[in-house]
Amino acid sequence: MQTMSGGRETKPEVRLRSALWAMGLRYRKDHRPAPSLRARADVVFAGPKVCVFLDGCFWHGCPRHFRRPRTNGRWWASKIARNVERDRRATAALTAAGWHVIRAWEHESPSKVAARVKEAVRAALGRPRASRGLR
Ligand SMILES: [Zn+2]
Repeated sequence: MQTMSGGRETKPEVRLRSALWAMGLRYRKDHRPAPSLRARADVVFAGPKVCVFLDGCFWHGCPRHFRRPRTNGRWWASKIARNVERDRRATAALTAAGWHVIRAWEHESPSKVAARVKEAVRAALGRPRASRGLR
């Protein structure tokens, strides 16, 4: 997740990761699920091909919380629109490459998001190996 301060991980990410860890899930963090695609996911399960993006409400244009800044409002609106478009393309490309993509907002409850992730990982692992393809 992109933050105002740069590359450091944010509180919602830390909370999500600790919820996943507590559920016994092990993952890679801040990782490119598919090396050919530029998108870095916040949490990646390489085996079951599940990746999680925790989207910041401001940077990713949350319908509930995004407010256009007063200064340079137009510039921000188009910047955020580009981010949203990039997110959409990344989700589509990863889905096409066989990934299960979970996008959550930073305002969502970490334990609810973690439960969704766990369900997706479990469902993916339940599939026959052949249909999962290569890692
Ligand atoms: Zn939000």
